[in-house]
Amino acid sequence: MIKIPKSIYRTIIEHARREAPLECCGILGGREGAVEKAFDLSNTERSQVRYSMSPQEQLKAFEEMDRESLEMVAIYHSHTHTISFPSETDVKLAFYPEVASVIISLKEETPVVKAFRIKEDAIYSEEIEVI
Ligand SMILES: [Zn+2]
Repeated sequence: MIKIPKSIYRTIIEHARREAPLECCGILGGREGAVEKAFDLSNTERSQVRYSMSPQEQLKAFEEMDRESLEMVAIYHSHTHTISFPSETDVKLAFYPEVASVIISLKEETPVVKAFRIKEDAIYSEEIEVI
């Protein structure tokens, strides 16, 4: 289970809306599954169907997490036209099996945020608790 504070939950939805119709992406840092900080990164693909996190910004986020003793709890990205479920590309490009994948869908008027874990091409749902 991933715990996300309400303010961060709102922040990542706003990020998704700001970038739409392009996909947004970022990292959620925290401790023991509890998110404490969101890092919004540039999607270098500038695409509506896929994302790639800026390597420089990713490095900066990792450095900041190191300094604050945070771990990478999740990677988030948005689906601006499809449901909150990993796409084929998401499964293929899941490089961090130990890190949850949070997907913000803007398909419906009310955004849907769900978390998954992708391990060896299998998709597992992960519960999100907004605290
Ligand atoms: Zn996706």
